[in-house]
Amino acid sequence: MEPGLVPGFVFPGGANSMQRGEKLTGGPCPVCGATVALWLGEKKGHAYLRCASCALVYARDVPTREQFAAVYGAYGGNRPSVGRQRFRLWPLVAWARQRACRAGVTRPLRALDVGCNTGYNTAALAGLGSEAHGLETNPATVELARSLHPDCQFHAETLEQHAASGQRYDAIYCSEVIEHAVDVRSFATALAALLEPHGLLFLTTPDAGHWRVPANTVRWRHVIPVEHLRLFDRRNLGRLLGEVGLEVRLRIPTTRTNLRLFCTPRV
Ligand SMILES: [Zn+2]
Repeated sequence: MEPGLVPGFVFPGGANSMQRGEKLTGGPCPVCGATVALWLGEKKGHAYLRCASCALVYARDVPTREQFAAVYGAYGGNRPSVGRQRFRLWPLVAWARQRACRAGVTRPLRALDVGCNTGYNTAALAGLGSEAHGLETNPATVELARSLHPDCQFHAETLEQHAASGQRYDAIYCSEVIEHAVDVRSFATALAALLEPHGLLFLTTPDAGHWRVPANTVRWRHVIPVEHLRLFDRRNLGRLLGEVGLEVRLRIPTTRTNLRLFCTPRV
């Protein structure tokens, strides 16, 4: 979906006239399509709402092309230790390998790192014996990743573009990315399309339903205007994933305000 093309809610009296919890009509909600939402407040001039039907927390307005460019144009400076990332990734690789073996796959595991930044997780996937691919929309970041990790393959594409290319994977790592997507349904559909029938997805995203999220939601550290546009809880995320053909197989409990899910295609 093109940035800036989705009509949001409008406030006849201006945003300053709104009270927290006040009902609005407009929308629709990016997950369930409902047209009633609750006003949560503004952060740095950006309004956030909670869907009155599915409880999705979402930015009222889609950022303009200029706002996207300002945030993501300079993105990609993270370079954590590849060795440490292997500890995060080995459960995904081990479980995906077991599922691939059961499905009769004998080639090396094909693994995709969605939103790969400078490729540290992609390199960790390669270090765990996978044919590792990284996906990142910023071409400059992809160039840097290629120079740092020549044993991996990197693609400067959106998830939807990559899914349309016909690639399929045994394992997909998608950590703290879906909350950045404008169109979460097309994003989730692309994730499902990229998985082999025996494939395994590890998905993490902030958890707006976690008990540690402040009562005044806009104060929550994961409400980051322009970057974090859609903030799920386990019910509305499970619903979206289910609607695109994915089944949540395991949820890792955490004291952090995050959802950590292992998902497979529904059989
Ligand atoms: Zn909704």
